[in-house]
Amino acid sequence: MNKLWLVRIHHRMRSASFVLLFIASAMHLTDKNPGLLAWGLLAALFLVYPQLQYWRSLRAADSVKTEMDNLLVDAALLGAYMAAMGFAVWLSFSALLGILTNMATNRGCRGVPAVLLATLAGAGLWIAINGFTFSPQTSWQVMVFCLAGVSYYLVAVGHIGFTRNQHLRQIRKQLQVRKAELIQANQALNGHLHEIEALHQQLREHANRDALTALYNRRYLDITLERERLSCLRESRPLALIMMDVDHFKRYNDHYGHQAGDQCLIAVAKLLQTHAKRANDLVARYGGEEFLLMLPGMDVASAYVLAQEVCHGIEALAIAHESSPIGHLTLSIGLAVMTQDDPKDVASLLRAADEALYLAKRSGRNQVHLAAQTHLPTGAAPQVTAHLMQLVWHPSYACGQSDLDAHHTDMFAQINTLLAAVLCNRPVNEVAACIDTLIDDVTRHFAEEEKILQQAGFPAVQAHAEQHRELLDHAAYLVERFKRHDLDTGELFQFLATDLVARHMLGADRAFFSHLNPPQAQPQT
Ligand code: GH3
Ligand code: MG
Ligand code: MG
Repeated sequence: MNKLWLVRIHHRMRSASFVLLFIASAMHLTDKNPGLLAWGLLAALFLVYPQLQYWRSLRAADSVKTEMDNLLVDAALLGAYMAAMGFAVWLSFSALLGILTNMATNRGCRGVPAVLLATLAGAGLWIAINGFTFSPQTSWQVMVFCLAGVSYYLVAVGHIGFTRNQHLRQIRKQLQVRKAELIQANQALNGHLHEIEALHQQLREHANRDALTALYNRRYLDITLERERLSCLRESRPLALIMMDVDHFKRYNDHYGHQAGDQCLIAVAKLLQTHAKRANDLVARYGGEEFLLMLPGMDVASAYVLAQEVCHGIEALAIAHESSPIGHLTLSIGLAVMTQDDPKDVASLLRAADEALYLAKRSGRNQVHLAAQTHLPTGAAPQVTAHLMQLVWHPSYACGQSDLDAHHTDMFAQINTLLAAVLCNRPVNEVAACIDTLIDDVTRHFAEEEKILQQAGFPAVQAHAEQHRELLDHAAYLVERFKRHDLDTGELFQFLATDLVARHMLGADRAFFSHLNPPQAQPQT
């Protein structure tokens, strides 16, 4: 329903009603012989004027406002007409009713006073110019015609109201359909927005993850590490970094193929994930076969325990690695911890962990090494050993020389006896006796080993003997400190179990395995 609809409907109503009024006026005037001018004025008012109004409204910028103004002009002209007709009752009634109905349907009752005023003004102006005449009577024919005309006019107005209502109902229906469509479209849009948000989230996750292992990648680690470092410094908490590298992985790839290597990395990643238990712990793939565990708030002792667990956990996976000296897959681990007393930036902390890892590699692999400025607290050492330092003999550790293998298994057993004594809080002299026995046996074993190596023609026997001497000297020095109560049992145990027995026998000793006479040691998985 546009604005021109209103103009057209008014034009139609005005033209029809004015023609009716013209006929009624003509009927009223025929026997009165009013003269040519009167006929001309009537024709101009009832036949020409409606067309002029229509023409004006069609061209107006605001046709609705023009139409409202036109209604007032209608009222003024019809006021003059009524006065000119001497207020003939049926003619005046019909004209006034028409104007009032028009105004009421367009502007409601608030338009009525304006119409009445305009009518009075028109009538007043006519009277002022032409004088007042009053002849209300009309013939019965005029009365009947006016009644018929007014009835027709009211029915027409009612019909217009009806079509307008119908039109509005239709529009309301269309609006409801549109509203339902909009709600549906809105719901679909919301659904799409959620999908897009989920996809964004996935994309962000993908960008932060390593494609092979699904661990966090280096990029994400770099961002998170700095954030956690600052948070740890603010809250005076330590921050532990455990850097791990798969031992002899190039050989693994060469032996089993790159795809098997990939599966192996996935298995390692899975195991590492089980060790990142707290909310802010994070495991990342740091490089090819290097991984990193970030442990905010974890102190040296706990991180060391965890690193050892990882080391043992990888061994427990028992992934065959025939080209490694041990025969199964192992990890070397470097541990660095930042504390409030020793704040570091990310680069230095990573460097410290990397250097510790390098030392773990150099000391024979399959072990945990602490960074230069990372020390186990004295009181924590027994606790650490309680968790981890029990030595478990594996057939792959055998060198094939029965005497040496018997010695090695005996050393492992002695370490475990010593561990039990420490853990059960046996008196210091009893622990010291265990240590003395162990060192005596190791000394004897080293001497016999050197003799056997000499006989087997092992070329590096001198260098190996030198290592023996260094280890024994350091052990003697630590035992002396221990007896002076200058060294904690845990720290001494640490050296004896790790350096003197495990690392040496599983690391340095491997160099001579191939020189010993039958049977040759076969790596087992
Ligand atoms: P080390 O004990 O000293 O660490 O020896 P290594 O052989 O493990 O170390 P090196 O750096 O010489 O070799 C690392 C190997 O890891 C070489 C590379 O092909 C392999 N590697 C790196 N990324 C991947 C990977 O995504 N998949 C597989 N299958 N191998 C990888
Ligand atoms: Mg590497
Ligand atoms: Mg490696």
